[in-house]
Amino acid sequence: MSFVTHWEVVPDLNTIPGHDGAESVLAEVPNQVAANSVHSGVGTAVVSGNYGGDSVLMQAESGGVTVPTAETNISADDVEDGIEVISTPQEPCVGMVFATADAAKKYYNSYARHAGFSIRIDSSRESKKTEEKTKYIYVCQRAGVNKKEKVATDGPITEKNIVRERRRDYVERTRCPARMIVRRTPHGQWEVVHFEKDHNHKRVKKFSLTKYLNSHRNIPPEEKEFIRFLHGCNITSTRAFQIMADLYGGIDNCPYTEGDVKNLRVEYRAEYKCKDMKKTLDYFSELQKEDPDFYYSYTLDEEDRVENLFWVDSAARKSYELYGDCISFDATYLTNAYNMPFAPFIGIDRNGITIQLGCGFLRNEKTESYVWLFSEFKNAMGGKDPLNIITDQDFAMKAAIGVVFETSTHRNCRWHIMENARKVLGQFLNGKEELSDDFKDCVSFSFSPAEFESKWQAMLDKHEINGDQRFEHLYEMRKCWVPAYFMQRFFPFLQTTARSEGFNAVLKRYVNPKNSIYNFVQQYKKIQQRIFSKQDLQEVVTVTKVPHYLTGHPMERQMKEVYTRKLFNVFQQELQLSSSYYVVRVEGDSLLDVVPYRSCPEELYGPRTFRVTAAKSDGVYSCTCCKFQWDGVLCCHILKVFDTLAIREVPERCILPRWSAEILADGGVEVLGESLQAPEISSSGKHIVRYSRICTSFNKIIVPHMGDDEGYSIVSKHVAAMQAKLNELKKRKASNVALEPQSGQVGQSSGGAVASKSKKPRKKATFDIYRS
Ligand SMILES: [Zn+2]
Ligand SMILES: [Zn+2]
Repeated sequence: MSFVTHWEVVPDLNTIPGHDGAESVLAEVPNQVAANSVHSGVGTAVVSGNYGGDSVLMQAESGGVTVPTAETNISADDVEDGIEVISTPQEPCVGMVFATADAAKKYYNSYARHAGFSIRIDSSRESKKTEEKTKYIYVCQRAGVNKKEKVATDGPITEKNIVRERRRDYVERTRCPARMIVRRTPHGQWEVVHFEKDHNHKRVKKFSLTKYLNSHRNIPPEEKEFIRFLHGCNITSTRAFQIMADLYGGIDNCPYTEGDVKNLRVEYRAEYKCKDMKKTLDYFSELQKEDPDFYYSYTLDEEDRVENLFWVDSAARKSYELYGDCISFDATYLTNAYNMPFAPFIGIDRNGITIQLGCGFLRNEKTESYVWLFSEFKNAMGGKDPLNIITDQDFAMKAAIGVVFETSTHRNCRWHIMENARKVLGQFLNGKEELSDDFKDCVSFSFSPAEFESKWQAMLDKHEINGDQRFEHLYEMRKCWVPAYFMQRFFPFLQTTARSEGFNAVLKRYVNPKNSIYNFVQQYKKIQQRIFSKQDLQEVVTVTKVPHYLTGHPMERQMKEVYTRKLFNVFQQELQLSSSYYVVRVEGDSLLDVVPYRSCPEELYGPRTFRVTAAKSDGVYSCTCCKFQWDGVLCCHILKVFDTLAIREVPERCILPRWSAEILADGGVEVLGESLQAPEISSSGKHIVRYSRICTSFNKIIVPHMGDDEGYSIVSKHVAAMQAKLNELKKRKASNVALEPQSGQVGQSSGGAVASKSKKPRKKATFDIYRS
């Protein structure tokens, strides 16, 4: 309904009270008015109309503003039934009567817009008996004096007053006398009892600029909803405004500014903030009803405010049973509106997809907070420590891990350490290419602590940096971060990638740190859904798609059946790399050197020779590259040895269950707890989509003709006709509603329709795929 008023150059102009008490419209608009009021900069319009029963003659004179106006050349048929017709507002006059105070205000405001000023309510009087308003004074925005001036005249300027001094530009008040006063009549209507036309200041001359004046800036309710929706999707104010302006066909047409959209967001945030935590906890207890294994927990401070918060759903709790061998935890990169760091637990599923294993908010980053969070996590996960945990470098966190995850191997994210090192060392390493290369070689291409330490010493000697504090510091921490110290520990795919960084990037796209926790929790659910859909896709790929075989090796066929596709691809790559090597037996079949013909194309392996220990009868193999230990996938060196020893199948012991596609078929981990119904756009979503579609196309159609009187007239006519039809529809629907109980009695047919409607197509659950 209100898209009509959105694009209207002149809103609500002829809305004045009608006989039925409701807001209706000036019923007769003589052609003469229209003719006179076009470009009414100096025009005088005479209009006779019925204001609340009394016929008055109005003299209207526009106040020197150039106003684009309508040619309201509309037949009596068109203007029946409450149609808003677009034309120049007439000047208010004493004796005008309005059905409501709001209608009076709207009328004065639209007049004000055309006269180039902005209004506000000065004061309103209440009747002592009924406590109802009996009088409203609408004044020019510049009426009265500015507060600061008031302070100056009221008393001495104190320090407090100075502090409160405005930083932004403000509207200067000039004691402008312009105003309109309405008083309630004994019949409950509102009559203009005083009207002062003249201003004592300059007004805005250009009509297109008047929209920037306070009382004319207005975001229609539907659009507020839409902006709230965009806000929920983490769209910035600037972009939200761009979208709205586009819907209007350009910034010029938009009746509000980017600042207004920003203010709206601030308003929403403030609104959320008040009820946020309660809303979040209510939401959690709702989730718990749907998902009985949903776990959440929080602590309160002395003032009963939420201090720490942790939650995890049943899917994640199940996932942890299988993927608790390596988790990543990170609390340093994202804080929200409350400055509570956000702390997600992240794991890797059998498809190599990052999954969330629980999530928390902490008031501070002290050890005790982490101890609480980790304890809650452990509690939710059946008391099981993660086998391995990787975090950013943080002493409080490290201490807490030591306290709670007693059996876990803790490692710092190399990426994070290297980033910090770059900050400290960047300038020093600048231009010293050889040192940079040696440094990288030490850190990234050492396969044992001994190798790292000897390379490190060689580097210090060669570049004469023994005793350099920056390097010394990195060396002291080596056991926390240098990969060589974690070769035997399972940290899959971390050797070459910065996994949690990827997750952070996703998170940032979805979540605005300034938003509420409630908003965050909901966004987090969206991320979870995104993960689920990625998993689904991978499962389908694994089960239904045939890979391109790269070799004629029987193991390639075997592993295609065993591994998820992602892991199969990793395996395939190693199998291919194995052709870069030949084997030299050191001790028969039990100790073999795998030597590259030239250099292995995989940077990590390079020109180095690796040594493989083999116990064929036990099916146990190990390699000095340790890939199987940290990635859970056989390296190309062991695969090469298989070839040499004529082993045609990968031994059972070399296939990690957590990478296996089979495991799901037993229903071990089913992370999809989602609804079985096909998704449908919500009715409010439908509303928004339709609304924006209509606005866009409507604007496209009309905007080119708005400068043209004839085009404008055509549009006005059709809008009026459309509104008449829509009003009819509204009336018809209202009467149908009244009749509904009756039709319900007859209503087998309507009952049947409802039943068939609720029968939605069902989505196949993922485990079905495995069974079929
Ligand atoms: Zn004024
Ligand atoms: Zn190897």
